[in-house]
Amino acid sequence: MRDDDVPAWWQALGLPGLNDIHVHFMPTPLMNAVWRYMDDGRQHYGVDWPVHYRTSPEARLATLERLGVRSFPALLYPHKPDMAESLSEWARGFAAQTPGCWPSGTFYPEPSAARYVREALEAGTRVFKAHVQVGQYDPRAALLTDVWGQLAEAGTPVVVHSGNGPRPGPYTGPGPFGEVLAAHPNLTAVIAHCGSPDYAAHLDLVQRYPNVYVDTTMVGTGWVPDLPDLGADVLKRLGDLQDRVLLGTDFPNIPYPYAQQLAALQGFDLGDDWLRAVCWHNAARLLGPQAPPSST
Ligand SMILES: [Zn+2]
Repeated sequence: MRDDDVPAWWQALGLPGLNDIHVHFMPTPLMNAVWRYMDDGRQHYGVDWPVHYRTSPEARLATLERLGVRSFPALLYPHKPDMAESLSEWARGFAAQTPGCWPSGTFYPEPSAARYVREALEAGTRVFKAHVQVGQYDPRAALLTDVWGQLAEAGTPVVVHSGNGPRPGPYTGPGPFGEVLAAHPNLTAVIAHCGSPDYAAHLDLVQRYPNVYVDTTMVGTGWVPDLPDLGADVLKRLGDLQDRVLLGTDFPNIPYPYAQQLAALQGFDLGDDWLRAVCWHNAARLLGPQAPPSST
């Protein structure tokens, strides 16, 4: 499948397009810094990382439109203190002028976090991102207790990179975030990358807690050689958990065409109903049937 084939692919499933829960847009200097980091992919990921959509924001939005991605958040994340609040403000502004973009936010364990997350929720933020691997923080930190509590109470989803991939961080793996869920069992969380490489342990969290999902970001594409294959047991569980799996891709920071992610999902051979649920219906149920229109 090539990117040009993607619209025919979702049309054949009877879908009106795709909902992608894991898309990144960032202020240009930050995006450039992320891309420079990926230029050293061999060092950081054990494999070259030629960002496939290294284009202007306008060109990237046009690509999503051509692919038929109808709704997506502009996920951002801080790697140090005093960064999350302004990133969240930027993301709200970006969403306000971008049709189909959900207003997103992020946070970091710092004294102001509870306040700016409350303000972000009041300002209409619909999804958050927490990057435990890049942020290298403990998700169980006391400074985040109120944040997780607010998100749980609001029912607002948070996409969490809690997995050990592509390289472990000091607080990655299912253990630390599993303790956050034990303390906030109603939290609506989307485990990015299906918790790669610890797929099974993260699927245990999906089964244990009613509002935990996984996203498919990079799963099954085989790009990072250090990451294990899903295996038959995990694939079967992904099929059984059809309503708790969301399409995610990491667009635009992927080292291959978007279509490769969809081909990987199709290759799981879990059926057309599964593809429909994952690529459209589950996100529509979680975030709303339709992406918000631009306010400008
Ligand atoms: Zn990502």
